[in-house]
Amino acid sequence: MITRILLSLLAALSTAGAALAAPDLSRMTAGELTVFLRAFPKGGELHNHLGGGTPAEDLIAWAVEDGLCVDPAELAIRLTCASETYRPAAAFVADEAQRSALIDSLTVRHPRFRDRSGHDQFFTAFSRRGQSPGRTGDALAETLNVLAHQNTFYSELMVTPQGAASRGLGARVGWRGDAAATKAALTEAGLEKLVPAVVADTNAMETRAREVMACDTPRAQPGCQVTVRYLFQAIRQGPPEQTMAQLQLGVAVVAADRRWVGLQLVAPEDSPDAVKYYDTHMQIVAELTDKGRNTPVALHAGEVTLAIVAPDDLRDHVTKAVRVAGARRIGHGVGLPAETDAVSVAAEMAARGILVEVNPISNRVILEVEPEDHPFTWFRQNRVPVSLSTDDSGILRSDLSGDYALALKMGATYADLKTSARNAIAFGFLTGEGLWQDPNVYRKPARACAGQIGDAEPRGACADLVAGSDKAREQWRHERLLKAFEAGR
Ligand SMILES: [Zn+2]
Repeated sequence: MITRILLSLLAALSTAGAALAAPDLSRMTAGELTVFLRAFPKGGELHNHLGGGTPAEDLIAWAVEDGLCVDPAELAIRLTCASETYRPAAAFVADEAQRSALIDSLTVRHPRFRDRSGHDQFFTAFSRRGQSPGRTGDALAETLNVLAHQNTFYSELMVTPQGAASRGLGARVGWRGDAAATKAALTEAGLEKLVPAVVADTNAMETRAREVMACDTPRAQPGCQVTVRYLFQAIRQGPPEQTMAQLQLGVAVVAADRRWVGLQLVAPEDSPDAVKYYDTHMQIVAELTDKGRNTPVALHAGEVTLAIVAPDDLRDHVTKAVRVAGARRIGHGVGLPAETDAVSVAAEMAARGILVEVNPISNRVILEVEPEDHPFTWFRQNRVPVSLSTDDSGILRSDLSGDYALALKMGATYADLKTSARNAIAFGFLTGEGLWQDPNVYRKPARACAGQIGDAEPRGACADLVAGSDKAREQWRHERLLKAFEAGR
């Protein structure tokens, strides 16, 4: 008996010891680091576009199966074969050199492909990545399996459902002088009637994904274990009433369906419409969400440098996303230190818990910001919460572990990686009380769970907390994974 108690005490001590010893990642070889970071539980991913997550090889396979065509001049997959210059995808990719060129065209793997910058190759790739509408479930399955392979089980994916229908309605209604009047006109025109179509699209996508992953069968793939939520992404190009119609539909969908948890605003922040309507877009978001109070908002902002925008457009994008629109999270934020009020905005973000979704590989390719020039360390010094994410792993040919690896070159320590992973759930838009009283610090567990975090099962009041909160449930799972990972080293 005494031996057994001693043994279990020793086991507990060695587990605690392993958990306390922060590994020195700078001493690892490249191979050791790859193994370590893939297995390291990264909590979740808060910035990932479903439309950019699929590897080119899958898009090509689906194009062949679905009888799609390739435009040989643009090296683009097309949904129709209407032009006589288009070739059936199957015939086109039968030639290995052509298949390779098509993969180059759908990704950023070939630097200076067709003499395009990384920025231009990346953003134009979306229009070449043709995919049958029925394949969104296949794309979802691929994304979830990749995340599970990274020992990571929560995702907020950006998706744009019913885009053409909502934008068409926006075009018919037109701009009515300000956001409030346009909102009323869109409601009057029946915008909210598109909500059931979005719910049906979501159901179809998830049903297909679960079928592809063989969920609920003995052959279930790891992606079945990933909890997924969606951010309704609107496109910041075209007339503002069309962007607004998408956002307004997003607000209605978030209210109607718990799988949809917030809004996003996407497309190149430096494009002419995005720059021209930036202030209008911030006012629209503020009007529709009551400055983020009735609907959670994450916004791409500060995905700019002086190389790609005029100085005027580098002064206040993050500032306005935070102070005008009411964003709770900022996508990228690279330009923030150059903004006029950078220091006070960073202090406000730290105080209010507004997180920056940092995308190291994306920033290196699109903005040409090398890790040593990235403001990651400045965010940490200013106590601005950060979480690492991939942005568009299919186009960027990357994965979340690769972004964690690049963060090390930005000065991140193992403790920073742990914080990033925990932040990916704590600052997610899941509802319910969290397991931590001090997100971004993680020293004070929720009172009910003190002394239990990392245990196999929650007990007593903590069990009630976890059972009643989507957020606490994901955090509980992550803490168990983290403890097992650290104990196993
Ligand atoms: Zn993005």
